[in-house]
Amino acid sequence: MTILLFREDADLKSCAATVEAVNERGGIVLDGTVFYATAGGQPGDKGKIVWDGGEALIATTVYDEAKNVVHVPAEGQPAPPVGSKVEAVLDWDNRYRNMRVHTLMHLLCASVPFPVTGGAIGEDGGRIDFDIPEGQIPDKAVLTATLNRLVSEDHPVTFRWITDEEMAENQHLIRTMSVKPPMGTGRVRLVMIGEDGKVDLQPCGGTHLRSTGAIGPVAVSKIENKGKINRRIRVVFA
Ligand SMILES: [Zn+2]
Repeated sequence: MTILLFREDADLKSCAATVEAVNERGGIVLDGTVFYATAGGQPGDKGKIVWDGGEALIATTVYDEAKNVVHVPAEGQPAPPVGSKVEAVLDWDNRYRNMRVHTLMHLLCASVPFPVTGGAIGEDGGRIDFDIPEGQIPDKAVLTATLNRLVSEDHPVTFRWITDEEMAENQHLIRTMSVKPPMGTGRVRLVMIGEDGKVDLQPCGGTHLRSTGAIGPVAVSKIENKGKINRRIRVVFA
């Protein structure tokens, strides 16, 4: 299994690694990586892998069936020899923007007290789908003000690891019905925003900022009706 360096330190921009395998589609598996693989609505990282005598642009990153992180090269890129030492370098602008949106999505989740049915992170912002009963739809301007207050209060984002058993006993912490928390490895990471998670507390394997201030000003751009009780709330950078 690939060591997920981004899970301990999301600010790592590159790492040294050894090539463990190159799959039949050219996907590169390393012994450890800073590249986040597509999961939970957050896109896989882009960047490059550099080795003695070559480099490959990485178009995206995904998990394979065995839960290894696979760095997917752009069309026509070469692959490093298996066993070689490489440097995996993130497209940091892309990743940092994803971290800002992802952390913002936690604040959105914390500000709308209804079950989550889906979500996605895009280039200019992100959206979450909530199961909201008629008559309780939040006001765009009020929600925008709430989010900007949580951003400007610059709450710290920290982690705590709990066991799979503790997670099973604390199902109420799981906000997303469509994404199961990353269980199965014996431990789950709880992401806490604010002191002891007073702003938001939920299991998450994504990449986050160290505090909410770096998200910057935001605005709720749309609250759409996506079915009987499904409301899609979109938030963008202002
Ligand atoms: Zn998260």
